[in-house]
Amino acid sequence: MIYNEEFETLPRPALEALQLKRLNDTLSRVYANVPFYKQSFDKAGIRPDSVTSLEDLQKLPFTYKQDMRDSYPYGLFAAPMEDIVRIHASSGTTGKPTVVGYTRKDIEIWAELMARSFVAAGAHKGDIIHNAYGYGLFTGGLGAHYGAERLGASVIPMSGGNTKKQIMIMQDFGSTVLTCTPSYSLFLAEAAEEEGIDFKKLKLHVGIFGAEPWSEAMRVEIEAKLDICAIDIYGLSEIMGPGVAIECRVAKKGLHIWEDHFIAEIIDPDTGELLPPGEKGELVITTITKQGIPLIRYRTRDITSINYEPCACGRTHARIDRMSGRSDDMLIIRGVNVFPSQIESILMGIEGVEPHYLLIVDRKDNLDTLEVQVEVDERLFSDEIKHLQTLSLTIEKAIKDLLGITCKTRLVEPRTIARSEGKAKRVIDNRKTV
Ligand SMILES: [Zn+2]
Repeated sequence: MIYNEEFETLPRPALEALQLKRLNDTLSRVYANVPFYKQSFDKAGIRPDSVTSLEDLQKLPFTYKQDMRDSYPYGLFAAPMEDIVRIHASSGTTGKPTVVGYTRKDIEIWAELMARSFVAAGAHKGDIIHNAYGYGLFTGGLGAHYGAERLGASVIPMSGGNTKKQIMIMQDFGSTVLTCTPSYSLFLAEAAEEEGIDFKKLKLHVGIFGAEPWSEAMRVEIEAKLDICAIDIYGLSEIMGPGVAIECRVAKKGLHIWEDHFIAEIIDPDTGELLPPGEKGELVITTITKQGIPLIRYRTRDITSINYEPCACGRTHARIDRMSGRSDDMLIIRGVNVFPSQIESILMGIEGVEPHYLLIVDRKDNLDTLEVQVEVDERLFSDEIKHLQTLSLTIEKAIKDLLGITCKTRLVEPRTIARSEGKAKRVIDNRKTV
């Protein structure tokens, strides 16, 4: 099933022609209405009408998260405040949040793109969507909510937290679709187990998980524990919120990015050069229909690759690969670039290891150290100590072999590592406080 057959299956030449037209409109609008863009285009010697092909996009300067911070709160808005009907913000780890504004049309497009995403994931009208993304300034809750209503499904606005109640509602209301972070889905399954509730007996058939990077191995784990199909969704508040891209259930191989509303580029994060399809780099997105806060060549910091090959589902929109992490999350340990998701993949591939872990990075005597705390099957603790030692060595060796870094493992009993009701905390980097 395809929600918007006409636009989701546009032949590529028509899709690209539409992108160019919408890009031109957007460039004229930001040049006329946003002083930041007028200055940056002038400085680069570019006039909006000198962009005559999609390739010309590469001449335009990038927009960074810092530019949004510098123009806090409304400096990058391209529409007057009386046309803004919603404001969201993403919490910054430091200082002020990043603020985004939506016109009525922006909200309508967002609802449609989320509805498209639900259908691509295999949800339909008649589904009962249990929305456990947080409602509030965070875009997750309301983004999924409006999309579910647009689709015509029944949406339960659960928001995050209150895990016991979540499980009761899921059971009593017959929820068929779950939306939350991947780590929270496992937490729910674990909490249900403690209550003596078999998650597999619930009516859920699909889970749509995003807001944090997760590995293929984690998918296998979730699908087995919850007995559902687990679909990866991508979005970020700066660009729109959830629903920028989603995996289709048919192929489950890469996330279709809605190219009639966004132009995606993959660049080398160090040089800014465009990379060819298939090569991993930083995702850069230009919004081409947004009115409230259009962004030109926004540096997402997310690392992925892009694939323009036709998909079995019939959609013509390009697919981006599952995120390997954010360049912000990338750890440099003794000069080696490491994403937490890489360690997650390794851990999930080892028998007896549970999908809950914490990486602790420190510096001792000027040398970076990595400790991997991971929960393991409780039966291992009743076995002989040598089994635990063997497992530790297996993990350390696997990490050394695949990533080239030496680490120490600390195996802990199930439910030792703190759970999060939103994004999981995977890393404690003590080097930053020194
Ligand atoms: Zn597809």
